[in-house]
Amino acid sequence: MQRTKDWVRQALLVPTLRAQMEVRKLKRGYATIYAVTCSPTELAELSRIRSGEIANLAAGIQHYLDTNEELPRIRVLCFGSCAALENTPQELSQWLCNTTARGAWLRRLCTAVARFTPATPIRRIIVHELTHALLDLLTNGFPYPVAIAEGFARRAEYLLPNKRGMTEWQQQSSHQQKGHRANLTDDEFMSVRELLCFDARARWTSDRASFLGMTNVSFWLNVYLFKLSGKHPILKRILPELRLRCITTGEGVYSWLQEACSIDHAELEDGFYRFCTKGTMELDTTPNDRR
Ligand SMILES: [Zn+2]
Repeated sequence: MQRTKDWVRQALLVPTLRAQMEVRKLKRGYATIYAVTCSPTELAELSRIRSGEIANLAAGIQHYLDTNEELPRIRVLCFGSCAALENTPQELSQWLCNTTARGAWLRRLCTAVARFTPATPIRRIIVHELTHALLDLLTNGFPYPVAIAEGFARRAEYLLPNKRGMTEWQQQSSHQQKGHRANLTDDEFMSVRELLCFDARARWTSDRASFLGMTNVSFWLNVYLFKLSGKHPILKRILPELRLRCITTGEGVYSWLQEACSIDHAELEDGFYRFCTKGTMELDTTPNDRR
């Protein structure tokens, strides 16, 4: 019964929005972006998102997941900064009323939502939420600990593998040039264990600041693990390996990491702390082709 209800909600979502608000459709390969009450400037920003980069994102996530699973159709609802949010269907308003949230992947509605905000380019929000959607749909909902999924979603905003499976810095994505060095303060820092065991469900709405802090440090955990993968190649396969071993808990991932790198927790944590706070590594910004 719940499934039928969800299916009806999903099917009616865009027609319901159309009845109340101005909706424009932009097809981008497997993703369909619906611009909801967007200004001409906002529409122009959305139009600059190319099918090619959306395809590149999927190829990157398929590569990280080591899967050839067929791409699902993904719907993205993009709300303009002046959209009258009180007119949105009830199942969306709960998310939209959360004023600090810029985007979300709403699994039950099989829909990603994004909102124009002055602080973050819409392209980055869309890429982030599409990553969550792809990780979810291409694994049939495998429950990766939130820091793992957030790490890849944040990574996709900046770094994606090219056709040879290597990563390169995407200058055009960086915008705020935020990703060069972690340089976290002790207050911002979270240990590997704290990140992996973060209770996102409890804190997504009630403690938004700590949720956002967690996604930020998760990005650096992801970059740190890719750095360690130079010595321990299995870390690059973290997504398929966790699935293969049915590791879904933070503690489980924590043990697996120590086993995969043949180090104990103190060494893992010390390395991560130094990496995040001392700014010891700078991301390589040279495109692979020129190396
Ligand atoms: Zn996220």
